[in-house]
Amino acid sequence: MKPAVMVIGGGQAGLATGFYLRRAGLVPGEDFVILDAADRPGGAWARMWPTLRTFSPTQYSSLPGWMMPPWTQDSGYPLAAHVVDYLTRYEQRYELAVRRNVSVRSVTRGDHGLLRVTSDRGEWLAEQVVSATGTWSRPFVPAYPGTFGGRQLHTAQYRQASDFTGERVLIVGGGNSAAQILAEVSRVAETTWATLRPPRFLPDDVDGRALFEIATRRHRARQLGEPDKGGVSGLGDIVMVDSVREARDRDVLHARKPFAQLVERGVRWDDGSESSFDTIIWCTGFRPALGHLTALGLRGPEGRIPTNGTQAVKESRLHLIGYGDWTGPASATLIGAGRTARELIRSLSIE
Ligand code: FAD
Repeated sequence: MKPAVMVIGGGQAGLATGFYLRRAGLVPGEDFVILDAADRPGGAWARMWPTLRTFSPTQYSSLPGWMMPPWTQDSGYPLAAHVVDYLTRYEQRYELAVRRNVSVRSVTRGDHGLLRVTSDRGEWLAEQVVSATGTWSRPFVPAYPGTFGGRQLHTAQYRQASDFTGERVLIVGGGNSAAQILAEVSRVAETTWATLRPPRFLPDDVDGRALFEIATRRHRARQLGEPDKGGVSGLGDIVMVDSVREARDRDVLHARKPFAQLVERGVRWDDGSESSFDTIIWCTGFRPALGHLTALGLRGPEGRIPTNGTQAVKESRLHLIGYGDWTGPASATLIGAGRTARELIRSLSIE
């Protein structure tokens, strides 16, 4: 079988790409094929902890074509399961024919100007490849000297606060995951928060709406060739969802600088003092899952593949979406994935 386009990854970025491919007249499962390693829909959202809330209301968390249904269960923003349900139905609605349980091992240059996609379930030759594998499968933990004898886990393994009841827990990281996990774990455990730089809280009224507006502004600036004034990170990092506000009211949102090293029972701080912990939760982010593209030899600085928009600079048949702002403004968010996918389709020259 020789589809025109192979899409690797069926999370929100792969689905948004599928939407526009279909709209361009390509037939799902024939002219383009979406492969996904997971056994169920939802991408990373299906793996996040159940109490995770999006930081944006539903009308600012939608993929192209069909709005996310409103969240009516409480006054807050949707839980991760609502996003999974939306992505599941989105995939069905547009009959995107995602092939599941197919893990792509490599993309290489084949004969006749085609790219070869090799998976654990077979091989495809394609004219163009879209990589939309996200970051969830590559949790990042910074290296520290020393060894800690207690329990350690990453955001990717976190499930619920009750797993830490009565413990002394160190939470490392200054982003939204750290703040939301700290907010709930601090209700049942004695928590300490360590961040590289002082945490930067967004104003209470800034949420996904602002992200959307800033992404729109950046998109227009790019189109008009004007300077890019940067993303929402200029304002701060942490969205004040209800649970984080509540933690602020309980006065637990105090961070200290990271420790100097790990020790058997905990950590040693810069001033030489030590603290004991039962558990360390590393909320230290993810890296792009690009291992399947290694053989193409395209890696640039910071483990990224240099792109022009979404197109790889040194391999015009390869397109990347959803990994971060370097693959399109806000392309790693629900609201940004659609716009990036639309641009990506233009660079495929199939419309
Ligand atoms: P993913 O959702 O990770 O999907 C990638 C897919 O590729 C997966 O299904 C995986 O199985 C598949 N795959 C990976 N490798 C292979 C391979 N080799 N072969 C075949 N398939 C493969 N965004 C918002 O808009 N609002 C929020 O509130 C928000 N909160 C977030 C909270 C957290 C804790 C995190 C981590 C992210 C949050 N995001 C939020 C960001 C963003 O929406 C997600 O990271 C999003 O899941 C990225 O979508 P994706 O499709 O690029 O990747």
